[in-house]
Amino acid sequence: MCGIVGYIGSREPKNILLDGLKNLEYRGYDSAGIALKNNNQVQVIRGLGRISCLEEKINNMDVIKANMGIAHTRWATHGEPNEANAHPHTSGMVTLVHNGIIENFSEIKEKLIKTGVVFKSDTDSEVLAALINYYYDNDPVLAIEKAIKDVKGSYALGIIFADQDKLFAVRKDLPLIIGYGEKEFFIASDISAIIKYTNKYSLLDENEIAVLDFDGIVVTKAGKKIEKEILVTDLKAEDREKNGYEHYMLKEIMEEPIVLEKTLKPFIDDFFKIPDLSDYEEIHIVACGSAMYAGMVGKTLLEENSNIRVMCEVASEYRYKKVLYDRKTIVIVISQSGETADTIAAMRKAKENGVETLAIVNVKGSTIARESDKQIYIEAGPEIAVATTKAYILQVAVMALLACRVANESKIVDELKKLPRLLREVIDRRDIYLKIAKDIYKRDDIFFIGRKIDYAISLEGSLKLKEISYIHSEAYQAGELKHGTISLIDKGTPVFAIITDEDIMDKTISNVCEVKARGAKVIVVSNVENDVGDYLILVPKVSSFLQSILVVPCLQLIAYEVAKLKGCDIDKPKNLAKSVTVE
Ligand code: GLU
Repeated sequence: MCGIVGYIGSREPKNILLDGLKNLEYRGYDSAGIALKNNNQVQVIRGLGRISCLEEKINNMDVIKANMGIAHTRWATHGEPNEANAHPHTSGMVTLVHNGIIENFSEIKEKLIKTGVVFKSDTDSEVLAALINYYYDNDPVLAIEKAIKDVKGSYALGIIFADQDKLFAVRKDLPLIIGYGEKEFFIASDISAIIKYTNKYSLLDENEIAVLDFDGIVVTKAGKKIEKEILVTDLKAEDREKNGYEHYMLKEIMEEPIVLEKTLKPFIDDFFKIPDLSDYEEIHIVACGSAMYAGMVGKTLLEENSNIRVMCEVASEYRYKKVLYDRKTIVIVISQSGETADTIAAMRKAKENGVETLAIVNVKGSTIARESDKQIYIEAGPEIAVATTKAYILQVAVMALLACRVANESKIVDELKKLPRLLREVIDRRDIYLKIAKDIYKRDDIFFIGRKIDYAISLEGSLKLKEISYIHSEAYQAGELKHGTISLIDKGTPVFAIITDEDIMDKTISNVCEVKARGAKVIVVSNVENDVGDYLILVPKVSSFLQSILVVPCLQLIAYEVAKLKGCDIDKPKNLAKSVTVE
């Protein structure tokens, strides 16, 4: 969600900033802008829509010769997406880009209006620019320190002062890194924005203020200098390329067997490396979106294979609801980016209550990776498409491993070895997915049904389809459909029926008959040969722990083909953001 990049050095900042923004596009945004500065001039250029529009605008105008600048992709929270609300925002001497939300902005705004400040946008971010300017009296760090004391909320900020040849950065609850090049220095929301220029970076901690000038970076907190550890990423610029695929989403689905093998390897080598949860009386799985649906698969597997109570909750609810921690509990948080605001808050809630936390996370060095007690990393590499595919599969794989360990199923290792090859077979059958997509892509409503683990799978299948194709879709427990929603089934309404759990297969088949009787077109995804639907996608039968890993990719590929047939912006669906860093 929203991105920041900043540069100071001897090169032309404009292209470096635009390039950085393009590498942050995957996070999701609605408008963008840059501010360029030389010794005595600041120029701000902003635009609605894609970076390419901003680039075109910049290329068709006179831009100042600059030696530093800040840039931003905005995902609107306060004020509609338009040019006036796009960042950077300037107030007096201060120009800034902001990610996050200033919760007490209206109170501060009122006070500043009384001092004569005139606001030009509806954003909370401009209020912060005005507040820093209000406190500014030739000491930028002091002004920033005073301002952040007054605000409630979350922020990552890149700031320039019209009369300072320096760049400033500070963050709270949102990620921001500083990057080190040869006599050039960067700030960025994540390393992908600057990987073309440097692989050396430091993570800014909460409310540390970074001052970047042409000779280096000084970081302070409350006036005290902080020595930052310099990290080196092994990410390469080419890891973020499409490698000939039309979309990142397709590339990432096709990578699933490779990243699965990589993620499983340490546990195939030593099954007992999988954390053992059997001593806990209660497990809380907390996440958002697809990660939460991966958690639902995990919940089902853990419940079926242990006597531990398992609860799986959406993080935005968990963080605010009454939760009893009266048994020996572990909280498992799942997040690809490790920066999901609600999941971070849920994790902190558990920690405040003295409860142990285990994170399943992709991005090393992220807030969740750093603050959780234990971590299991998925080895997805960069996931650029907003709709998650490979990271979801790996999250499910890790949940399955945890369940196997609790159940002492060490013989699963033989199946784990075969799994990437079977997954490759599943994703290579693209013709059947395209055929089904062609048959359903013009429909307004599509349903998914399943029971138990097949219901958890249905949830992700339905989400994937609606998020990228904009077709209304819902997932139902197969037995529940007739308690209301069956009234929406008409002649030809597509219904995906997931049937992999043999114990309740007959029950789901009866539900398929019910929707068929009302005219539904049924697409069955199963590990058992049957002719109950109009289509059958037959996946290889594996242990119930691992079965969902071979089912969901079929649904991902159908969603992909449907969205492509509809001409949707597959990698960047409207209104969505990749890492949801605001609550
Ligand atoms: N709250 C700010 C706005 O609406 C920043 C949004 C963002 O993080 O992009 O402009």
